[in-house]
Amino acid sequence: MSIVQKHWPNEDHIFIFNNATTHLKHPNGSLSACKMPKGTPKVGTNWGVEVTVRNSEGKIIYGVDGKPTKMKICMGDGTFEDGIFKGMAKILEERGYDNMVNVRAECRPNFTCKPGVKHYCCRQMLYNEPDFVNVKSTLELAAESQGISVLFLPKFHCKLTFIEQCWGHAKRVYHQMLPSPSKHDLAKNLVDALESVTVEQMWKYACCSHRFMDAYKKGLMGKQGHGQLEKAGL
Ligand SMILES: [Zn+2]
Repeated sequence: MSIVQKHWPNEDHIFIFNNATTHLKHPNGSLSACKMPKGTPKVGTNWGVEVTVRNSEGKIIYGVDGKPTKMKICMGDGTFEDGIFKGMAKILEERGYDNMVNVRAECRPNFTCKPGVKHYCCRQMLYNEPDFVNVKSTLELAAESQGISVLFLPKFHCKLTFIEQCWGHAKRVYHQMLPSPSKHDLAKNLVDALESVTVEQMWKYACCSHRFMDAYKKGLMGKQGHGQLEKAGL
């Protein structure tokens, strides 16, 4: 981010990331419907977001059993009833949904909620509430603080970003180089492999990514999309 801001200070910047879990990670204590109990917890077992305890240098503090120390923190700006977590049903009722006591906590396994049913389950309903949907990841917050926008690619669609094809090209070239025990040779091979991707090839890969986007936009899926690209000679 500091590089683009230094060299192109008057441009608007958008960074595109793939859908990796690390990119989507939310800050500790962000709004999340995960793991919340449906009802108010019993006395002495208050619910909270479990986080790993770290020291001032950001290092994990381990307990005597050798495992990372955990503590419970409050979620976002959530308010508690008498210091106790309210539970999903109560939160939903406060948001105007009726009779949440009779709605199940979660459809199992893995949120297999029945399509077309209005009040499916507490967890899915809360998950779809606007403030829960719009929680930003640590990455988005960091970029926004620098005035940079972030876009995430859909899952498993690395072909939509041409840099992946450039990496693929460089890796293929690297594989063809002679093995060597010398650090110097390996470092040189790495740079040579990266430099082997010419600007023309980058244009071609970018064009290929655009065609994939276009194919998806027009509703073509799987084989049809690939067929379109083959026809175009990409
Ligand atoms: Zn459900």
